[in-house]
Amino acid sequence: IKKTVSVLGLGRMGSALARALGEKGYEVLVWNRSADKATPPGARRVGTPEEAFEADVVVTCLTSYEVQRPLLSKNIKVLVNLTSGTPEEARETAKWAEDNGVEYVDGVIMAVPQQIGTPGARIFFSGNGNHHVLDAFGEPVHVGEDAGLPALYDLALLGIMWATFGGYLQAVALMGTEGITPEKFTPMVAAWLTELGTMLPALGEETRHRDYETDVSALDINVSGLRMLMEANAQQGLDTALPRALHDLYERAQLKGHGTHSIASVIEVIR
Ligand code: NDP
Repeated sequence: IKKTVSVLGLGRMGSALARALGEKGYEVLVWNRSADKATPPGARRVGTPEEAFEADVVVTCLTSYEVQRPLLSKNIKVLVNLTSGTPEEARETAKWAEDNGVEYVDGVIMAVPQQIGTPGARIFFSGNGNHHVLDAFGEPVHVGEDAGLPALYDLALLGIMWATFGGYLQAVALMGTEGITPEKFTPMVAAWLTELGTMLPALGEETRHRDYETDVSALDINVSGLRMLMEANAQQGLDTALPRALHDLYERAQLKGHGTHSIASVIEVIR
């Protein structure tokens, strides 16, 4: 017997999830607040969330928990929550599910809609609930029992992405002031990021042992470099918010007495 799965939310991501479920042979029900979104091929549109809750599994993929909260009902059998949020919001939802006798799987999607249904799409999930529908979306990765953990991983990794993209765009703007195109510059950046990636395990270890002795590069030199970066951006007529924020953060570690220590000591300020 085919399992029935409902998808609440036919936005960019929800539509991709519904399509992938259909392709894997599930019977798919879909609900969306507005009528303007297309019904994915093979799926059956329902007019109310209540009708969607008749399915064996309900997948939610909405803008936020704020939007999702009023839609949830104790009539859901298994809730697979793929709406992004904070760890605390995920834990509240897990508690709500427990109190209402709803089996709960918390997940976050580490992919864009175009990747859904391919092995490259990672879905972080937690708990012991029935998570098998996740196989239809890509590569499920169990990150632990706590419902807050998928969101924690998600936000930590996205934080790296936002910081990296911000740094890249600042660099593209800086190079652009002298007519150097992204096309010319980007291959250099890609190689640099790969090299930086190899340095992370050592950096991570230093934060664990809180041993910041270094013969590579002291924080003092990096703070002075960040001042140069800030000045160069200003001289070229660019916004300096990002280099300034980095400069100020690193400088606070320097002021705390970490000047001769490695960059990893900046975590002492962050913590
Ligand atoms: P969209 O903006 O494309 O879709 C948002 C969905 O939420 C729509 O179905 C919309 O319905 C619904 N919605 C918004 N407000 C309400 C409301 N008050 N009541 C009922 N439904 C509402 O967003 P995405 O599909 O891109 O994102 C959905 C989730 O997936 C988010 O949590 C996002 O973080 C996550 N995600 C998205 C990724 C992406 O690349 N797109 C990547 C990883 C995670 P309506 O059509 O009526 O407006």
